[in-house]
Amino acid sequence: MKSFTAFAKKSSEPERLELVVRGGKLVTPDGIVRADFGVMRGKIVEVAPKITDDADATLDARGSHVFPGIVDAHVHFNEPGRADWEGLATGSAALAAGGGTCYFDMPLNSEPPVLDAARLREKRALAEEKSCVDFALWGGLVPGNLDKLAGLRDAGAIGLKAFMCNSGIDSFPRVDEASLREGMKRAAKLGLLVAVHAEDEALAAKFTAEQKAKGRTNARAWLDSRPVEVELAAIRTALELAGETGCALHIVHVSSPEGIALVTAARDQRVDVTAETCPHYLLLNDKDVVRLGPIAKCAPPLRDEKRRLGLWTELRAGRIHTVGSDHSPSRPEMKDSANMFAVWGGIAGCQHGFELLFSECAKSAEKDLPVLAAVLARNVARRFRLDARKGELAEGRDADFSLVKFGPEREIAADDLWTRHRISAYVGRTSRARVTHTYVRGCAVYADGRLTNLPSPGQFLAPHR
Ligand SMILES: [Zn+2]
Repeated sequence: MKSFTAFAKKSSEPERLELVVRGGKLVTPDGIVRADFGVMRGKIVEVAPKITDDADATLDARGSHVFPGIVDAHVHFNEPGRADWEGLATGSAALAAGGGTCYFDMPLNSEPPVLDAARLREKRALAEEKSCVDFALWGGLVPGNLDKLAGLRDAGAIGLKAFMCNSGIDSFPRVDEASLREGMKRAAKLGLLVAVHAEDEALAAKFTAEQKAKGRTNARAWLDSRPVEVELAAIRTALELAGETGCALHIVHVSSPEGIALVTAARDQRVDVTAETCPHYLLLNDKDVVRLGPIAKCAPPLRDEKRRLGLWTELRAGRIHTVGSDHSPSRPEMKDSANMFAVWGGIAGCQHGFELLFSECAKSAEKDLPVLAAVLARNVARRFRLDARKGELAEGRDADFSLVKFGPEREIAADDLWTRHRISAYVGRTSRARVTHTYVRGCAVYADGRLTNLPSPGQFLAPHR
């Protein structure tokens, strides 16, 4: 372990630490350690059992777990164009309140979608102005933009996102197999990762038509219109194409253990693929869709209890690589219909989804919190090549972290939400975990239920090439 003194000797005048975080239980993928850490110029410069150096500021973390800042690779903040659904300021605030310090915004449902370098730069400028945490930006892969992929790479896209079924957004068409193959070939050459929403359009259309022919439009009908085979068929196709093209593939929001099994088998065949799931697949099941209705509608849909528990097994076994929120809110009236096929599909969960995962692990903290540190931070930073700065509470990395307190159960209220619309599938649910502080590059963004005024807003991150 590098000592602070050794680090400081590089300059003639030893610098004073900006911040020391004292007495916390640091959660790392390898275990939980009681340690202090010192921060200078926004970076962690020392991690040690006890740091006695003076510092400009001290944060007392006694009684708290210190988590690495969550890197949420999957959000839809919908700006520009649909800030009435969410927005970069409110979305990033909600994420910070839930322990997030960095997000990757999807190329849709902002309007226009990010399909070329100019759109990426436009969104980057907006987020640099409005976001309170750091961010990266996805570019889109659609049938018409194959010639724009190099530009997206050069503008710093974190990767390319494609839909294998209809996206629900007219300006973001799905990829057919031929354009996905060609897109992946080009992405492989450019060194860009491709992420897919894996649901097979033909099967989804067939099952949907069957439900509608029967006149069924309720929650069960929605679930029946997208059985797990819809997801598995698309995952198989994507894996084959990744194997064939050599493209790095990331399957977003895998909803079933069967989907993870396909990814695991492909990895054994040396396909460069990783799998993401989302808090809602780990926290909610199909009965919650029936109970909660439209606010619990997402695609792929929430699965049965056996599959939910199966995903926890896969997570603990290390076969799920990342967990992202897929925060996808809308205007409230778009969730207001008895017809589940007519309402917007998307769960808004970037604020409480992760905290509820912490809560689920409260009783098995020693074993399970390190798993969360891996899938919420380290693995994400590594997969997307941000690990020189992000993902771990370690010397040389950005001082991105949150303090989490475990205690008695507390009910999540609509008033707790920092999102633009105070709507969440998690309102009314109880949590044993509470994020009390979130710091980005050594600065408090969120503390004791308040957002703080940052000296500097979020920074744009591009993967190292
Ligand atoms: Zn999404």
